[in-house]
Amino acid sequence: MPSDESFIPLQKPWLGAEEERAAVESLRSGRIGGGGPAGAALARLVEETLGVKRALAMTSCTHALEAAMLALEVGPGDEVVCPSFAFVSAANAIVLRGAKVIFADIEEETLGLDPADVETRITERTRGIVLVHYGGFPCRIDEIIDLARRRGLFVVEDAAQVFGATWDGKPLGTFGDIGCFSLHETKNLTCGEGGIFVTNDEALFLRAEVIREKGTDRSRFLRGEAQKYLWQSPGSSFVLADPLCAIAIEQIRKSPEIKRRRGEIYGRYLRELAPLEKAGKLRLPRVLPRASPNWHVFYVLLDDPGMRSELIAHLAARRISAAFHFVPLHTSPFGKKLCGAPPELPLTDRIASALLRLPIYPGLLPKEQDRVIGAVFDFLG
Ligand SMILES: *Cc1c(COP(=O)(O)O)cnc(C)c1O
Repeated sequence: MPSDESFIPLQKPWLGAEEERAAVESLRSGRIGGGGPAGAALARLVEETLGVKRALAMTSCTHALEAAMLALEVGPGDEVVCPSFAFVSAANAIVLRGAKVIFADIEEETLGLDPADVETRITERTRGIVLVHYGGFPCRIDEIIDLARRRGLFVVEDAAQVFGATWDGKPLGTFGDIGCFSLHETKNLTCGEGGIFVTNDEALFLRAEVIREKGTDRSRFLRGEAQKYLWQSPGSSFVLADPLCAIAIEQIRKSPEIKRRRGEIYGRYLRELAPLEKAGKLRLPRVLPRASPNWHVFYVLLDDPGMRSELIAHLAARRISAAFHFVPLHTSPFGKKLCGAPPELPLTDRIASALLRLPIYPGLLPKEQDRVIGAVFDFLG
C-alpha cells in the first residue's frame, strides 16, 4: 500500500497573502464587529459582480435562508416546496417558521428540481419554492421561475454552492426573489464561515437588513439615518464580522481564477474517465448548453451502491478522499417524522444512491489528479 503518498482531500480552500493582509488590516482598523466598512464594501462588490440590486453579508448561508423565510413572512399553515436531494439548511429554514416542507423530486440532467414534479406538489396553501442549484450546476431555473410567476409563488435560490455560475449568462442566485450563498470553508469561495443574501426587491432587502440586526434598525442608525435604533420586527443575529468580510472580498476578486482552475481539473476528469463511461462502468455529468457552472463538484454516477462503497474504501486506502451526498432529507430520521408516509421521489432515491464525488479544488496538482484517476481505473477498469 503506497502509504507514503500525501493525503488528497475532497476540497481545500484557495487562500493566500491577499486574504492574510486583508484580515490583518481589518483587525488593526479597530472595527471588527459587523456592519463596518468591510461589510459594506463586500456588499457593493457582490452587487457589482452579480448585477444584483442589494446584497447583505451574513453569518452563513443557513442564516441567509432563515432570514429569507422571515423576510417573506412564511409561517404556520404555509407550504413551501423544496428538494429532498438538498442540504438540511433549506428545509430547516422552512420548518423553523412553523411551515410545512413539501419535498419535490429532482431531474437527472441538472440534479435540481424537476419543474413538472414541482407543479404536481402545489396546493392552495403553497407559498413558494426553495430550490437548490446542485454542485455548481444550474437547475432549470427559467422554467421554475415561469411556474412560480404563473402560480403566484416566491422563489428562494439556495445558491450556497454556485457563486460565479450562470444560466444564459445571468448569475445564479439572482433569478428568484432572494438568493443565498455560502462562504463556508468547503465552498469555492470562503472566509471560514459566512453567507451572502441577495435580492432585487427593495422591500425584502429592508426587512432582511432589520432581521440580521436582531430585528432592529441598527443599520439605518449606523448610516446616520436614525438617531436611535429600536426593535422593529422579529429578527436574529446574522451580521458577518468585518475581518471575515475582508477575507471574502479577496476571495470574490479571485473568483474567476478559482473557477478557471477548477474548470481545468473538471475537464481533465471528463476526458480521462470517458473510456469508463464508454465501457458502461460509470456515468459522467452533462452540462446543459445554457449553463456555465462554477465547477464546485465533480461527480460520477455508479449504478451499484455496493460498488460505490467499495470504491470509496479503495480510494481511502490510497489516501484519496471521495464521498457521497446528499442523504435524501425524506429518508433522514427527522425527515421521516415530518413526512409520515414516505413521498414518491424516485429520481432523488436513485441519484443519491449512485453519486460519488471526487477531489476537486484549485490547488489539486496534475500528479495528484493522476493518482485519483489511476485509482479509479484500478478499481473499475
Ligand atoms: C453548504 C451548503 C449550505 C449551508 O451553508 P453554510 O454557509 O454552511 O450555512 C446550504 N445549502 C447548500 C446546498 C450547501 O451546500
